[in-house]
Amino acid sequence: MKFVCYREFDDPQEPILPGVLHQGRTLPLTRVVAVAEAMAPKGLSVPDDLFAVLAKLAGYGRALRDLEKARILDKLWPEAGVTFAAPLPRPHRILGIGRNYAEHAKEMGNDVPSEPIVFQKASTSVIAPGQPIVLPPNVGNVDFEGELAVVIGVAGKNVTEAEALSLVAGYTLINDVTARDEQKRAIAKSLPWFLSKSYDTFGPLGPCLVTPDEIPDPQNLTLTLSVNDEIKQQANTSEMLFTIPALIAYLSRHFALAPGDVIATGTPSGIAPLRSGDIVEVRIAEIGTLTNPVIGEDEVF
Ligand code: MG
Repeated sequence: MKFVCYREFDDPQEPILPGVLHQGRTLPLTRVVAVAEAMAPKGLSVPDDLFAVLAKLAGYGRALRDLEKARILDKLWPEAGVTFAAPLPRPHRILGIGRNYAEHAKEMGNDVPSEPIVFQKASTSVIAPGQPIVLPPNVGNVDFEGELAVVIGVAGKNVTEAEALSLVAGYTLINDVTARDEQKRAIAKSLPWFLSKSYDTFGPLGPCLVTPDEIPDPQNLTLTLSVNDEIKQQANTSEMLFTIPALIAYLSRHFALAPGDVIATGTPSGIAPLRSGDIVEVRIAEIGTLTNPVIGEDEVF
C-alpha cells in the first residue's frame, strides 16, 4: 500500500488528511476504512494521531485488498486535485546516518566508518514534494543527498537484526540537504552536524510511504538523484555499509525507537551543490519520485 498525507485544497490552513494512493487516485483513508468496516467489521479505525496510524498500515492494506477484490474500490470517489504533504509532515525524529556508502565516504576524503555515524536532523526541516528548498544566504555550498528513508511504526528497544524489520511501517525518500561548508567547519571543530543539516526546508520527504509487503527486499533498490534531468547519483541500496536491520538494531541499543522515527540511511557518491532554479529529483521506482525546486531566500514571498 502507498500511504500519503494530503490537503483537499492548496492552503496551509487546511487540515492534513491520511490517504491511500491507488492506481493514480488519492482515496481518503477514513473512507476506505468506513466502507471496509461496513462490508466486514474488523475493528479497524483511523486514529487522529498520525504516529498511531503508522502501526496500523498493514491492516489498512488488507482492507484495501478486500475492497479491490470485491470491486468496490472503483466506486469510491477519489479526492480531486489534492495537494500532497510529506507522508510524515513532522517526524518524531530524523536519525541520519553518515558515510553509509563507501564511495561517498571516499569522495569526502573519509575512511569507511567501523560503526554507524549517527546524527540528528531537525524534524522541522521536512517539506512536501513540490515545495521549494530555500538556500539560506551566506552559508556557502548547500548539497543534495538522495537517500532511502525508513519509517518506524512500532516501538522497539534492544531489538535484534532478525527482529528489526518488524518495526518498519514503510519506506520513503528523503533529500538530506546539507550546508556542506558549514558542516565541514563544524567537523574541523569537532562540533555536531545538527545545524548544517537542519535549516528550514532541508528535509524534502516523500512522495509516499510504501509498506514493506510491496518492498520485500529494501536492500536491493536502485536509487537515483537527478538535477535538471541530469543524473548525479545512482546506486543500489545493497551497497550500504550498514544494512537497515543493522542500523535499527544499533540505534535501538541506545534508545527505544518510536513510531514516527525516520532513519535517513545515508547517501551514495555524487553529491554536489544546489543552485537557485534547480529542480532536484530523488527516485526509487518502487516508491516514486520526490521532486523539489530550489530557490534563494530572496525569492521567498
Ligand atoms: Mg545524508
